[in-house]
Amino acid sequence: MSNLVIFLGPPGAGKGTQAAKISKEKNLAHISTGDMLREHVSNGTELGNMAKTLLDQGKLVPDSLVIEMLIERLNSDDCKNGAILDGFPRTIAQAESLDEISNQFKISKVIVFDANHEELVRRILYRGETSGRSDDTEESISVRLKVYELDTAPLIDHYKQKNLVVNINAIGEVDNIYNLISGEF
Ligand code: ADP
Repeated sequence: MSNLVIFLGPPGAGKGTQAAKISKEKNLAHISTGDMLREHVSNGTELGNMAKTLLDQGKLVPDSLVIEMLIERLNSDDCKNGAILDGFPRTIAQAESLDEISNQFKISKVIVFDANHEELVRRILYRGETSGRSDDTEESISVRLKVYELDTAPLIDHYKQKNLVVNINAIGEVDNIYNLISGEF
């Protein structure tokens, strides 16, 4: 039985930065569905070609595609010791798909990154100057934040009912936030 820790929070909250650090430290797999999708796009796979426009617009890729991709990833060898999920689940349907495999993968905690919208927009625009990400534009950010509030934020309640939620203040120094999160593992 492998343990999963879910990083949940709006775009720009720093989930990816923290997941990269903590996964190394704790010898866990870091699964970023955003990174996986971007890899598909750059490799020109069938999934990538389907996802590209949605990614650029800041919209979600259909559940069925992301769920299949995620489950396949979870079954690879480096997830045996557990994994941090960064960017999944993003919808109730995705969360339910994880609930269905709870005999194999148990969610041990859901860390919710709290940050205000102004800070998020500022961070993503700043990141966009160097990231080369085609979705780090003002137009796409506004869609991504709306999608987060509409589709993803309801997951906080889903996991609160299971007593799994820990809130972290995601505003501040990367190292300080890292220390807060690290204490939860
Ligand atoms: P951010 O959280 O900064 O928006 P991500 O790298 O996590 O960035 O995701 C980028 C894009 O990839 C999303 O806007 C969406 O189009 C797609 N994506 C990532 N994860 C999922 C998911 N679980 N379900 C659907 N689409 C996803």
